[in-house]
Amino acid sequence: MNTLLTSIDFIPEASAETAACETKVTTDVNTGRSRKLYIESYGCQMNFSDSEIVSSILFKEGFDTTSDLNQADVVFLNTCSIREKAEQTVRARLKQINALKKTRPGMMVGVLGCMAERLKSKLLEEEKLVDMVVGPDAYRELPNLISEVDNGQRAVNVLLSREETYADINPIRLNSNGVSAFISIMRGCDNMCSFCVVPFTRGRERSRDAYSIVEEARNLVAAGYKEVTLLGQNVDSYKWASEDGSVQVNFAGLLERVALISPDLRVRFSTSHPKDITDEVLYTIKKHRNICKYIHLPVQSGNSRILDLMNRTYDRNWYMQRVDAIRNILGTECGISSDMIAGFCSETEAEHEDTLSLMDYVQYDYAYMFFYSERPGTLAARKLTDDVPLEVKKRRLQEIIDKQRELSLRRNQQDIGKIHRVLVEGFSKKSEADLQGRNDQNKVVIFPKRDYKKGDYVDVLVSSCSVGTLLGEPIL
Ligand code: SAM
Ligand code: SF4
Repeated sequence: MNTLLTSIDFIPEASAETAACETKVTTDVNTGRSRKLYIESYGCQMNFSDSEIVSSILFKEGFDTTSDLNQADVVFLNTCSIREKAEQTVRARLKQINALKKTRPGMMVGVLGCMAERLKSKLLEEEKLVDMVVGPDAYRELPNLISEVDNGQRAVNVLLSREETYADINPIRLNSNGVSAFISIMRGCDNMCSFCVVPFTRGRERSRDAYSIVEEARNLVAAGYKEVTLLGQNVDSYKWASEDGSVQVNFAGLLERVALISPDLRVRFSTSHPKDITDEVLYTIKKHRNICKYIHLPVQSGNSRILDLMNRTYDRNWYMQRVDAIRNILGTECGISSDMIAGFCSETEAEHEDTLSLMDYVQYDYAYMFFYSERPGTLAARKLTDDVPLEVKKRRLQEIIDKQRELSLRRNQQDIGKIHRVLVEGFSKKSEADLQGRNDQNKVVIFPKRDYKKGDYVDVLVSSCSVGTLLGEPIL
């Protein structure tokens, strides 16, 4: 079965604030099942992956998916709490859905994911027409919770688990172009970055059975997929051991196992943590041609005092040394991207300038950029004062965005005149005479279609670029 999510928003090359917050909706799959499920997923790739698990669990319980809210028997919003704005978006959407529910009283409405976990049963009181609140570790319970609602009750399960990884559930591929897929290799996070709500909403870090990950990747290859992205909040702390302890796998080991499945399978991963990324991982990337030379290594701030307040457990110098290691081992062509937060508690103008100068040092290919949004319950909310005025945060964010656009363009210009191996994802957005795909560094490359098709690897000589795209000609 092939259920799809469609993307509502477009992510620009140097994405700012809202851009990292995509929204995806299930598309229509009709296998004659008796009920229809509609999921709207917000936020990060982890949530989109979780929606694939939810679809799989409910497919077995007699649910097809739909893209039409008006057809749905069950409506889920799979939510994000990372910034206040993400929660506001969901609340506004719930109001619209609740207006519809008044005309279709049989329709069940549930909130899944981080907002469910953060607000728990308070959500039932605040959003009167919500029937179900389900946290990210309780999706196996969905069939029972739906039955409770069928019986006229309202249902909540927000228990976090130390074990749940959904390792045995074969996700139904959502938002699939049939070429690339995401594989969750771990859940939760044990870092306590002071600004971040994730450890509270997604629980303790757990690594998934390495064999089940390799098996999932193998099945994807057998189904024609050409690229997998291994997902975790901090992939470098992946650590799994067999029950008798005879097999132990760290992230470098896992990368290698997945890379060895097929030389034609491209392997990506996200997110790397500056405190944990090892030279062993970098040498593993170097060793295997099919592991992409691209690392998402969020810095958050370029100033050591702010990094300390953020509890990131590395300083500016440490980060620069990790970047030096990447450049030494993988060369200047290795893509590096980042997340940045402007205007964290007590950040001075000079400390903000440190972020800009660090960006110059690293020469990021692109970045996700945000201004600081205080989240209730986090260390920063409890211990620090959110004292940078909104207009200052916004101005600093704009300066970071402007800097990144400059850097992205410069990095893309360095790609001109070089041959890039591109995995074709489909037609270019503007014309069916052109195809588009990504190079190793995850940059979009557009070139004339000729006889190539989706899923092909094509060597493209890049001849021009914009801030977000490379353009070129296939070489025969
Ligand atoms: N685990 C990843 C890491 O440590 O780099 C990041 C995960 S978080 C879902 C994605 C990004 O959201 C963070 O890297 C950070 O830049 C941003 N973020 C998290 N909390 C935030 C907050 N309170 N205000 C603004 N941005 C925030
Ligand atoms: Fe949040 Fe830090 Fe964990 Fe990333 S590493 S999810 S920013 S607590």
